[in-house]
Amino acid sequence: MFINASSLQIARTRTPKPITPNGELVFGESMTDHMLVVEWTSSKGWDSPKITPYQNFSLDPATGVLQYGFHAFEGMKVFKDEKGKIRLFRPEKNMERMNKSCARMSLPSFDEESVVELLKKFVKLEERFIPSERGFSLYVRPNMIGTQQSLSVGPPNSALLYVIAFPVRPFPTRAMHLEAVEHALRTSPGGAASKKHSPNLAPVVAPAGLQQTLFLFSDIEPVAGKIVQYINEAGTMDLFCTMNIFFALKTKAGQKELVTAPTGSIILEGLMRLCVLELARERLQPQGWCVSERKYTIEELAEAAHEQRVLEVFGTSTAAVIVPIKSIGHTGGLIKCGPRENEEMGPVGRQMRGWIESIQYGDENHPWSVEV
Ligand SMILES: *Cc1c(COP(=O)(O)O)cnc(C)c1O
Repeated sequence: MFINASSLQIARTRTPKPITPNGELVFGESMTDHMLVVEWTSSKGWDSPKITPYQNFSLDPATGVLQYGFHAFEGMKVFKDEKGKIRLFRPEKNMERMNKSCARMSLPSFDEESVVELLKKFVKLEERFIPSERGFSLYVRPNMIGTQQSLSVGPPNSALLYVIAFPVRPFPTRAMHLEAVEHALRTSPGGAASKKHSPNLAPVVAPAGLQQTLFLFSDIEPVAGKIVQYINEAGTMDLFCTMNIFFALKTKAGQKELVTAPTGSIILEGLMRLCVLELARERLQPQGWCVSERKYTIEELAEAAHEQRVLEVFGTSTAAVIVPIKSIGHTGGLIKCGPRENEEMGPVGRQMRGWIESIQYGDENHPWSVEV
């Protein structure tokens, strides 16, 4: 699993691309000049890493990733601070999660520190593509694919780790409406939807149609013994991302509580989810908030909304940071989720977004921000 980062070979492009003006950026459409690739075989382990010009792959039509979806990926952002320094955000967490996703997909493991080293070298080389305007960043997409040329279903005997990147604009902070989906599940216990891999993403598109979707999961509530619908995650088509969901409410006893569903097997271990939980425990708990990782149902949300106890609801993802949710459509009814008329984001979401961005852009000196 060892990757020798110091043996990196760099072949620079002879045709550098023009920089897309910030105002014209479309998510995922302006790739940088280069990509990072590392090949693996079961007989020889990891080969020397290479940075090459961004280019097409040549794959046999029977390749494992094309047939059976042997794939794991990550999404991370890289920032330029006011002094022009490049900053990664908790990259070791992305690599740790990618190794877990790879293990679930029978893909090889890698040493996380070496890949963080390689990522630093890669983004340094692509420095001119990292926008310096506040809110903008470079989106980095590490992938691993199974490259075995075999139609038999088995662990890949060869794989490719590769990293591509493109500049992105800030996501809009408009509050969005979600439709709760009853007829399709995103995941079920013991499945692989808690991992980051492509077979998680395509199946969320059709149930959503043209809408922003809230996935539910029906199960037996252990105390009452009746079937309830647990809130799972949201899939958003116009923001190109899936999100973990938080809701801030007042309990019947008047306690302020920030709740999100626990990870385990049906919730993706979102990195923004982790950041919001850690910041909430450090900074909101002392202000009297209770921070909970517990299962919660749409019935509970509807009841709290009916009793005017929902303070705000938001989604989290690396791509969008915090996405405020204003309402949820559920079996014909409309659950109102908080922000007052003419307010797009509630105070908790706003504060979280501010805290996270000030760490990402290095305004606040914090161990999560890793200088290159
Ligand atoms: C990536 C992803 C998220 C968000 O995770 P972050 O690490 O916060 O970006 C949520 N759900 C799914 C299914 C995902 O793939």
